[in-house]
Amino acid sequence: MMTRAGTEVPLDAARMTQVVDEYEDLADFDVAEAQATALMIERAADEAGETELRWRARLLQADMVERRGELASAAKMIVEVLEWAQVSGCMRVQSRSHRVLARLYHAMGDLAANLEHMIQCVDALDATTPVSGRIACLIKLADAYAETGSMPSARDRYEQAILTAAEHGNARRQLMALNNYAYAEYDRGNLPMARRVLERLRAAGEEHGRPLDFSALDTVARVEALLGDLDAAERAARAALRAYLDENAQEADAEADLLLTLAFVQRLRGELYDAQQTIDRVQALCGRHALRFNEVQALFEQAEIQAAAGDFARAYATMHRFHTAEKRLQSAQREAQARNRQALFEVDEARRQAEWFRDQARRDPLTGLHNRRYVDERLPALLEKATGDGSPVTVALIDLDHFKRVNDTLSHETGDRVLTDVAAMIGRTDAGPAGFAARLGGEEFLLVVTGVDVAGAALRMEDLRQAISGHPWEPVTGELPVTVSIGVTAVTAGDTQSGVLARADEALYEAKSGGRDRLCLDPRVQIAERRRFRDGIR
Ligand code: GH3
Ligand code: MG
Ligand code: MG
Repeated sequence: MMTRAGTEVPLDAARMTQVVDEYEDLADFDVAEAQATALMIERAADEAGETELRWRARLLQADMVERRGELASAAKMIVEVLEWAQVSGCMRVQSRSHRVLARLYHAMGDLAANLEHMIQCVDALDATTPVSGRIACLIKLADAYAETGSMPSARDRYEQAILTAAEHGNARRQLMALNNYAYAEYDRGNLPMARRVLERLRAAGEEHGRPLDFSALDTVARVEALLGDLDAAERAARAALRAYLDENAQEADAEADLLLTLAFVQRLRGELYDAQQTIDRVQALCGRHALRFNEVQALFEQAEIQAAAGDFARAYATMHRFHTAEKRLQSAQREAQARNRQALFEVDEARRQAEWFRDQARRDPLTGLHNRRYVDERLPALLEKATGDGSPVTVALIDLDHFKRVNDTLSHETGDRVLTDVAAMIGRTDAGPAGFAARLGGEEFLLVVTGVDVAGAALRMEDLRQAISGHPWEPVTGELPVTVSIGVTAVTAGDTQSGVLARADEALYEAKSGGRDRLCLDPRVQIAERRRFRDGIR
């Protein structure tokens, strides 16, 4: 690992990238050290002009700030990173930003927002994120579905994660997916299913020479206890505690959880004295480490033990203390949520602004239509889809006729007004589910129509041409008519963007040389389509 800020070791970009990669792939680490390292890398990467690395290091810091519980500052940092990632089209950082934002909402108890961001996180994944990270995202998405009660979606993602991990020989991720899967089934109360997944987990663990860890063993204990196999439950609960001690883990709340499971199993077995001793250990741990959540759970178990022993008066009193403590805990949580709500509102605002900003970068400021950048991002994918499933895509180039005359005889402002009005009419044309209109520059527009065959699309374009020439332009241009010429072509399998645009341009040229104010179809468009188009006009 790298030393903290002030290190003498010169940092090269490759080494810094490796360090950030490692941190992004880990779940447990020293938060303060990670934060200091991330800050140092952010500065060094900034100086070295390594932009993406700089933002990844910034996001890592936000992650650490979030883990320290400073949710509002973390949120602000994440949104800055997301904004950069969206504007620069960096999918890896976009995906990671959503992942960290999801964690933040989870910490706030907003499970719906957690799910929403995990969906966006997985949507933004592409080959630039290493496979281990992609699997981790799928697992978190599955967890998010499970926590909002969508088990079918959760199962689907868990299975996907397990399969991908197996294919790539990633034992760590495979076991993690199975572990979380089993816990989700247990948590939703589907015990037989949880047991089946735990068996798969055990088998996979044996295959890779990794025994179940303490959290998996704890799930086994709870599932077996609830299914009535108390011997198996006690064995698992004790094995969990041994594994915890062997792993030398230092999570007091995890230890308290394991002890609570053991006490629960002991009580079900009628070993009330042992159960009471276990609860005493839990309470000692809670006192030492201020574990408020476990403390409340321990009170509940305590009351159950007293009731099982027939001491109903004390059980009643303990249950009363449990309810009081639970209410106090809940109101503390609600207060924390209220404090964070304002901060979150600001985050949402900032996110909307980031989206707006991203959208603005893909729009033409004069007409509000999309711009060439948008076309370059969207059209290739559309062509690929058309090649893939044969869905019809019709492309038109629309150019204003003798537009120079408007500028020259009237004014540039009038020209702008005409451009804006024509653009609005083009924008109102029904372009279908995936179609769009864009201004390519000057007085040239692109209209892409989907969801209808070429003849149908061309008829809409012909309607548009007639609407433009028939529009009452007098108040704007006086005597000067405003018309457009349109060149239309159909996308065919294997088309490239430049190929399609060149064909539409040829058809446009034909429309211009044929006298303007007309629509010409690319001669390569099939005869049947051309005929149906002509019949449609008549
Ligand atoms: P044609 O029918 O052959 O297309 O003739 P045209 O005059 O429309 O074509 P040409 O390409 O010669 O002229 C286009 C003009 O569009 C030239 C330029 O001044 C004008 N133009 C380009 N962008 C803008 C703009 O944003 N606003 C205004 N007002 N005019 C623009
Ligand atoms: Mg023109
Ligand atoms: Mg032109």
